[in-house]
Amino acid sequence: MSQGATLQVDNLHKKFGQREVLRGVSLTARPGDVVALIGSSGSGKSTLLRCLNLLEQPHDGRLSLGEETLNLVRDRDGSLRAQDAAQLQRWRTRLAFVFQSFNLWQHRTALENVTEAPIHVLGRPKDEAMARAEQLLARVGLSHRQHVYPAQLSGGEQQRVAIARALAMDPEVMLFDEPTSALDPELVGEVLRVMRELAQEGRTMLVVTHEMEFAREVASHAIFLHQGVIEEQGPPREILVRPRSERLAQFLSGGV
Ligand code: ADP
Ligand code: MG
Repeated sequence: MSQGATLQVDNLHKKFGQREVLRGVSLTARPGDVVALIGSSGSGKSTLLRCLNLLEQPHDGRLSLGEETLNLVRDRDGSLRAQDAAQLQRWRTRLAFVFQSFNLWQHRTALENVTEAPIHVLGRPKDEAMARAEQLLARVGLSHRQHVYPAQLSGGEQQRVAIARALAMDPEVMLFDEPTSALDPELVGEVLRVMRELAQEGRTMLVVTHEMEFAREVASHAIFLHQGVIEEQGPPREILVRPRSERLAQFLSGGV
């Protein structure tokens, strides 16, 4: 299943105050690509991912997904925002975000977390949304936990609910920001397993990760970000094994 459209990011810039944390990042993710974004803390990985669905407003650049280019207008502070709220909402359903800290609604059950947006954003009938949510929770191995609240779930289970919630929007691109970094080590595997299956299905994914084995084995492309620019990129089996840049070599040896 190779679905969706090509994500094209051109010359993205982002400042916080005077500090430019993205300094012209461009990338392409074609249907079925799994792009691993790596780099030391503070290199701009989260900011990059957040700019892609306008959780942060970039200061320059262009975003397109298939035929659609996001219409951006300049705000008073110089940053770019979506011109049209309806387009932004549609854009965000096309690119689903999975957060490091899960961000589930605490007062809703696992099932309700998954049905919320399909019902209230996509306007799907409740029965249909519930049936699909049950399927998706089954896929991530949580059929038996549907009616449980997030507080009663382990971190690994919460992240799998968050993945089911993202899938419920039928996104064309999935954005993962360190999805396993908040987990106890013994729970990392169950989340990576689900992500591996999504990759094998041909889903387009951008994954910020420190899991180098996952990046090497699952990603089709790796991007090493350093101080807001792409320092090196290429097939993970090449660049993560024989880096050309000194900085990437240092990062991989744990020296950064
Ligand atoms: P990474 O995810 O690679 O660790 P981030 O994208 O979170 O890096 O951060 C890049 C830089 O931008 C860091 O120096 C960070 O302190 C800064 N930064 C991130 N978010 C904000 C914010 N909301 N306000 C000010 N500075 C920020
Ligand atoms: Mg980050």
